[in-house]
Amino acid sequence: MDQKLRTETLCIQAGYAPGNGEPRQMPIVQSTTFKYATSEEMGKLFDLEAEGYFYSRLQNPTCDMVAAKIAALEGGTAAMLTGSGQAANFYAMFNIAGCGDHIVASTAIYGGTFNLLSVTMKRMGIDVTFVDPDADEETLAAAFRPETKLLFGETIANPALTVLDIEKFAKVAHAHGVPLIVDNTFATPVNCRPFEWGADIVTHSTTKYMDGHGVAVGGCIVDSGKFDWTAHADKFPGLCTPDDSYHGVTYTQRFGLAGAFITKCTAQLMRDLGSIQSPQSAFYLNLGLESLPFRMKQHCANAQGIAEYLQSHPKVAWVKYCGLPGDQYYEIAKKYMPNGSCGVISFGLIGGRKAAETFMKHLKLGSIETHVADSRTCCLHPASATHRQMTDEQLDAAGVGADLIRLSCGLENAQDLIADLEQAIAQV
Ligand SMILES: *Cc1c(COP(=O)(O)O)cnc(C)c1O
Repeated sequence: MDQKLRTETLCIQAGYAPGNGEPRQMPIVQSTTFKYATSEEMGKLFDLEAEGYFYSRLQNPTCDMVAAKIAALEGGTAAMLTGSGQAANFYAMFNIAGCGDHIVASTAIYGGTFNLLSVTMKRMGIDVTFVDPDADEETLAAAFRPETKLLFGETIANPALTVLDIEKFAKVAHAHGVPLIVDNTFATPVNCRPFEWGADIVTHSTTKYMDGHGVAVGGCIVDSGKFDWTAHADKFPGLCTPDDSYHGVTYTQRFGLAGAFITKCTAQLMRDLGSIQSPQSAFYLNLGLESLPFRMKQHCANAQGIAEYLQSHPKVAWVKYCGLPGDQYYEIAKKYMPNGSCGVISFGLIGGRKAAETFMKHLKLGSIETHVADSRTCCLHPASATHRQMTDEQLDAAGVGADLIRLSCGLENAQDLIADLEQAIAQV
């Protein structure tokens, strides 16, 4: 695909180009297995000598076409779909970090990723140090150890809504000979392409804006192809030394920097752990991607209008949205996301926790959900739902105060949404 094509065009055309008489719409290849005429031909696949499909636990054509579209959108060299955003982040990290290794991650990340790192990966012998993403380079650097294998952050953190200084993070990661992995779920490649700012690998929960309609859980990993694993071969033996389970293939030698990371991730992790996205889900994801630029524009316009409305409301104590002048991340968001950020905002009402509960009870259009980032406006009061086991002190420490309301602005008419907020706030 011509790299010069613009985002809207890639969203429609990338990943699938039918030949004569082939379906115009991307086909759903609903097949677990694939046929070969001879064992020799199939054997070549198992030695990674030929490209092809043999079993949909590892690779499926529909998934690969959609992954190729996302790779084109991010400006990457290779990509793979996973069954969820959780699987994408786990695979991206576990592909290069194992028992005895160490990861540095931003504190401002999705709760599921925080648990993955601090509980499950810790049990696998992978240690993690969390760093304040707003810390200076020296403070960030102090978290690194000889066995550190990667640095991790989110473009726009869910739910903290901090904006990552990607260039700063990339600089510190590269100074320590490790890649920067950025979860770009909230911004999407429509609003930010982290590879342009030095990130090496990008992950997505495609469950959010990319699908955009709340119909299919999924994830994606994209490689920029830019990180030189061979320059730090001692740190990344999995990519730079032979893999006995594939007759001694060395991924960086056989597939180059453009393909090594994703090929290893598919050949080893999908083979052994098998969390591929279903072709049916990939098909839904592809439909979502076709309209992504238009939906992102509307999500951002609605969020901007609602954030401004809330900011001027006498019953609103505070509003957090990086599109508001005066927001802590306004300047940095303008640098990395000049055309808009995302549709998620957070705010607190005067009256705190109790006011939040009353407000939520009276919302009519906005529904109460743990989900974010799809076409329907939804709302969450973490202190009475996802974070209800925490004390007020613990909530404050986590950056999720007892009064915090997270609002994911959907694609409805902004005036209707504001009228709904108005009547709910009036009940407080
Ligand atoms: C939702 C989310 C995830 C997890 O994705 P799932 O598809 O729910 O597994 C990871 N990162 C971010 C930023 C998210 O918002």
